[in-house]
Amino acid sequence: MNVHDSERLAGLLQEAGYVPVAQVPQKAARATLAGDEGADVVILNTCSVRENAANRLFGNLGQLASVKRERPGMQVAVGGCLAQQMREGIVEKAPWVDAVLGTHNLDVLPALLERARHNNEAAVEIEESLKVFPSTLPTRRESAYAAWVSISVGCNNTCTFCIVPHLRGKERDRRPGEVLSEVGAVVSEGAIEVTLLGQNVNSYGVGFGDRQAFGKLLRACGEIEGLERVRFTSPHPAAFTTDVIDAMAETPNVMPSLHMPLQSGSDRILRAMRRSYRSERFLGILSAVRERIPDAAITTDIIVGFPGETEEDFQATLDVVEKSRFSSAFTFIYSPRPGTPAADMEEQVPQDVVAERYQRLIALQERISAEENAAQEGRTVDVLISASEGRKDQSTSRVSGRAADNRLVHVALPEHLAESERPRPGDMVRAVVTHAAPHHLVADSALAGGLFEVRRTRAGDAWERREKRAAELSAEAEGKAPVSLGIPVIRLGGK
Ligand code: SF4
Repeated sequence: MNVHDSERLAGLLQEAGYVPVAQVPQKAARATLAGDEGADVVILNTCSVRENAANRLFGNLGQLASVKRERPGMQVAVGGCLAQQMREGIVEKAPWVDAVLGTHNLDVLPALLERARHNNEAAVEIEESLKVFPSTLPTRRESAYAAWVSISVGCNNTCTFCIVPHLRGKERDRRPGEVLSEVGAVVSEGAIEVTLLGQNVNSYGVGFGDRQAFGKLLRACGEIEGLERVRFTSPHPAAFTTDVIDAMAETPNVMPSLHMPLQSGSDRILRAMRRSYRSERFLGILSAVRERIPDAAITTDIIVGFPGETEEDFQATLDVVEKSRFSSAFTFIYSPRPGTPAADMEEQVPQDVVAERYQRLIALQERISAEENAAQEGRTVDVLISASEGRKDQSTSRVSGRAADNRLVHVALPEHLAESERPRPGDMVRAVVTHAAPHHLVADSALAGGLFEVRRTRAGDAWERREKRAAELSAEAEGKAPVSLGIPVIRLGGK
């Protein structure tokens, strides 16, 4: 959700005349170790779901303070969940911040920056509820070939560890027609993959009285010409119904992957978390999904050390993980989020106990991931090549991307492949998996003269057009005085 909000913030600024810092030739000479990338406007879009969000934010703001001193006119803005929560508190602790905006009013960012510049004082604006559905805002999509499309914002659940309902408010659903026209629009711009986005996609439709709306939406996406891959995140096990599984199985462009948060395998802890399903139901959904979609790769989120978690509860989590055969899991050590019921619960589990359990969970999931991936060896995979997945691609002469089931695959290029035949980000490559590791697959079939097919796609064309345009803008900017505005991406905590 935050990543997509960042795309919207970037889109708003671009529409207001700002230039992405990546297109500013002078950026390298101006960049500092603070991660500012040489920009004159830095937006920190915070996420309080993440651990130590406040410490990370103020750590980053501290570094930016010294950059601001050196770079007159530079502006720093803070948005996202933590801004919604802390409000003026951000400016009180970091008076050099120019603008603070919440999760409900992204649209005000350009105006706040302008106001702060004009009045020479911080501009803070937080709304209690949504005024403009975020998807109607201009968006600068990070990827030319894959796009996020929001179907709802907010959440009607009340999980005791989660700050989202407090900060994002009650669920608001977009009308299916609006969602589908945005999907159609991004596809016509070149995207071949769309991820439908909501805090709880399965409850989509409660807002307009259609409990089967999500399954119908998936089927309708199946009708959109040129849309090759549909994904969604995140479903909630309590609301996961058979009609959605049927729609997944019967709609060819809905990909065989599912990310469904388990959080805990202990029914007692699920109750304390106020998660209304139980482990048996969770496992039942996985069986039903696998029965209809045998190749589905299922991933999850798990919290270790929720208040009151005993060794027995943790063992129940390990048992469910063993049975679930997740292809991978995002594992989190519980950390209290101020403002959530769980933060005030007694029986917080000692850190050393949590750390030890966490290691055991990781070891178990690594083994399962390795086994599940090993079972992929010899399979033919269709990989949507990505611009950013393979850090070692240059040195290994591979390209990287995602298989249909969302597994990361590194694919070897045949020797002496002409530059014009090299797959571009957005193109599809078919190859055979030759090696598996817990977190990725390697498909080196080309090296032994085996399968290697490239399908050049509209998405690859869109990526190429975008690259050319960026190069032109960069060349144009080079001839001018230093461009003074930009949007860098700062990864909090170096992630
Ligand atoms: S379902 Fe629970 S964890 Fe997910 S956003 Fe809603 S309250 Fe938070």
